[in-house]
Amino acid sequence: MSPTVRTRFAPSPTGYPHVGNMRSALFAWLFARHSGGVFIIRIEDTDVARKVEGAVEGILDGLRWLGLDWDEGPEAGGDYGPYVQSQRLELYQEAARRLVSQGDAYYCYCSPERLEEMRADQTRRKQPPGYDRRCRELSQEERGKKEEESITPVVRFKTPLTGETRFHDIIWGDVVFDNSTLDDLVLLKSDGYPTYNFANIIDDHAMEITHVLRAEEFISSTPRHILLYRAMGYEPPYFAHLPMLLGSDRSKLGKRHGAVSITDYREQGYLPEAMMNFLALLGWSLDDRTELMSRQDLIDNFSLERVSKTAAVFDRQKLEWMNGVYIRNLSPEDFLGRVLQSLEEGLPSEAKRPLSIDYVRQIAPLVQERVKTLFEVPLLTRFFFVDCQEYDVTLLIPKNMDTESTRRALEVSRQRLEALASFDAESLEGLLRPLAVELELKTGQLFGALRTAVTGQKAAPPLFETMAVLGRETCLVRIEQALGKL
Ligand code: GLU
Repeated sequence: MSPTVRTRFAPSPTGYPHVGNMRSALFAWLFARHSGGVFIIRIEDTDVARKVEGAVEGILDGLRWLGLDWDEGPEAGGDYGPYVQSQRLELYQEAARRLVSQGDAYYCYCSPERLEEMRADQTRRKQPPGYDRRCRELSQEERGKKEEESITPVVRFKTPLTGETRFHDIIWGDVVFDNSTLDDLVLLKSDGYPTYNFANIIDDHAMEITHVLRAEEFISSTPRHILLYRAMGYEPPYFAHLPMLLGSDRSKLGKRHGAVSITDYREQGYLPEAMMNFLALLGWSLDDRTELMSRQDLIDNFSLERVSKTAAVFDRQKLEWMNGVYIRNLSPEDFLGRVLQSLEEGLPSEAKRPLSIDYVRQIAPLVQERVKTLFEVPLLTRFFFVDCQEYDVTLLIPKNMDTESTRRALEVSRQRLEALASFDAESLEGLLRPLAVELELKTGQLFGALRTAVTGQKAAPPLFETMAVLGRETCLVRIEQALGKL
């Protein structure tokens, strides 16, 4: 029997939850869920200088919002904890000592100033950057002298000087690096903290990770990892490096492409299930057609064999389209719940709270077919909740009409609406369509003037339903106010 699949997402808390990182988390989660395995979160917080307050919470919130539950990690606990690297320093220090004592690593006493000079010199000579290995072969005596100067050393790995290191990547196939291109990387810094590369392999081994899924940019770190696994006598896990994410201009997805934090998408009214579907297709596909897949579809069908090497483009228009589809597919009750929340958050403060659920229940169906994000809901429906008389008078006057003809159209409409027996959508349509003919106007002209008068905006939900929900009294008052403007 093959061992249980154990995957992990290992974020560094150095900032907001980037959609690229969330894509890595999603793939690792999908692979674990598909295989009946275990999904682990490990916080890689060993870069003390780059640690950002609140970043861990932001990342965990982002994961929760997307619906990625974890079996082991912060909050969840587990048998392989602690799951935060800064709480595991002993382990790395012990491993570093072991590598030194077996001759695979060494203490380096070079000062930051010396390293700085060395780097400047390398740049000047157009040599590749990298440690010049000055401390690699220090004699016992030389080392003793450094110790007396009480310099706290770093621990560096003794990278083989020749030969090559190869590994098999599930997505990229065999990858080979020349050892001469790798320098003697630092394993343990002078503050006693490990570097990413070292802590990462110690933990992937200690936590019995079977499959490492991470972004393509870590391919170049992997030969170092392989050498470290070998030196430690550990069996490396399987590797699958996920293709790069690009912005629509085909450069690496970054800040200049606008929202890159998963939190931004939540705030802009994207549904987590749409986001999950969208992210899953950034580098993976079921076939060359299928776009819409539920969480369960994704779990059932995910495979590393269908992860591509080709960089994936983060196409916001596609995301928007997909989100619209997910919104339309929500049950009315589910949509209502989300509309309530987006109205609570998005309506101006003068809207009366708490919002009436019965009122919102009448409004929600009018927008469900129309919005691509929940963020649009309060914009499209604010006139249901607040006064809307601040529009410019030119908005009232339809194409090919003037003040006079608009005034007449609204005046006649007002009288007829006042006398209408029943103020429901059907009766309103039955009244207003023939009225346009009678007034020798196109329906678009009459409805346009009325729409602006009762909603204060040009884009609004369907006119008759909107008027019915607003009610006769409000409509008449607003038409009166519009006439006052003309
Ligand atoms: N801490 C690394 C990061 O920030 C993890 C990389 C890996 O998965 O090995 O992405």
